[in-house]
Amino acid sequence: MAAKYIVRARNVVKTYHTGGEAVRALNGMSFDVAAGELTVILGQSGSGKTTLLNAMGGMDTITSGDLYVGGVNLRKLNTPALTEYRRRNVGFVFQFYNLMPNLTALENVELATELSKHAYDPEKVLKSVGLGARMKHFPGQLSGGEQQRVSIARAIAKNPKILLCDEPTGALDYETGKVVLGILQEMCRKHKKTVIIVTHNAAIKDIADQVIYIKNGKCIRREHNPAPKSVKEIEW
Ligand code: ADP
Ligand code: MG
Repeated sequence: MAAKYIVRARNVVKTYHTGGEAVRALNGMSFDVAAGELTVILGQSGSGKTTLLNAMGGMDTITSGDLYVGGVNLRKLNTPALTEYRRRNVGFVFQFYNLMPNLTALENVELATELSKHAYDPEKVLKSVGLGARMKHFPGQLSGGEQQRVSIARAIAKNPKILLCDEPTGALDYETGKVVLGILQEMCRKHKKTVIIVTHNAAIKDIADQVIYIKNGKCIRREHNPAPKSVKEIEW
């Protein structure tokens, strides 16, 4: 496998069985993501974005096909191996932050770094996302944008190979959403992280190196953008 690609999906299928009915959330998806790229996966609600992200993050298994991340075929990993994979390789950013409410910002980040051998210093990472003065606050004492910055700090502090972001601006107002996107873009440009953002917001695609359009669980088009815009230049 060419080392250039950190993610390779080949005919990935995910079928959910609920109430006797089968739903093909991923219906033969194939694409590549180069290491260090910022990729935006764009699709309407129900197109399979969260399912795909959870599969890449080892939070869920796939039904058939091959999904390589960092050279490892996730379909071949059992549950303990997937847990280990998730701990070591992936940082997650969720739409609704998913912070532990009874832990401070700093403790939330520390919790994520405890199991990681190559973690960054939690305080430094929180400072780098502009939260140096908010480290002792609990999530309930922070704004949505601040909570999302804590969750980005939590994802980054593990020093993962890949940052997976599920509608990271979905719950934020316009200006705050742009701040958060700016941090994610900087993670990619300055810190050379592979960043994958799934969203239904087409305006976000202009900041990406690659845009993957998905519909009904299929990748319908891929575009490579030779001149991605900075977050300041986009509007929605
Ligand atoms: P998106 O994130 O793009 O909105 P999802 O990946 O959440 O899409 O969902 C894709 C499809 O799979 C939808 O039809 C959804 O109803 C279905 N789906 C998602 N999760 C489950 C689940 N746990 N059980 C059954 N069906 C599911
Ligand atoms: Mg979703």
